[in-house]
Amino acid sequence: MPLKEPIPFFMDDIVRLRKPHPCGSFEWRIVRVGADIGLRCLTCDRRVLLPRRTLEKRLKQFVSRGPGVGPKESALPPPAARSTALPD
Ligand SMILES: [Zn+2]
Repeated sequence: MPLKEPIPFFMDDIVRLRKPHPCGSFEWRIVRVGADIGLRCLTCDRRVLLPRRTLEKRLKQFVSRGPGVGPKESALPPPAARSTALPD
C-alpha cells in the first residue's frame, strides 16, 4: 500500500472544496503557497489562509492547475516554490 503523499499546490490552481463558502461558491484560486495556503474565493473575492493539511482534507478536486504544474511535475514542487512571501 503506498502511503498517501502530500498534495502539491501551486499558484493559480483552481480547487473545488467539499464545503461551500458562505457565499455559495465551492471554487477557489490558490494565491499563496507556503506552510499555509492562501485561497481566494472565485465568487466573492474573499481571501483565507488554510494550513496545507486542512486544505488537503477539504479538497474535493482540482478544477484546473496553474502554470506551476507541468505534465510530469505533479509530484514535485518546482525550485521556485520555495520562495516564501508574496507581496499582497
Ligand atoms: Zn465566497
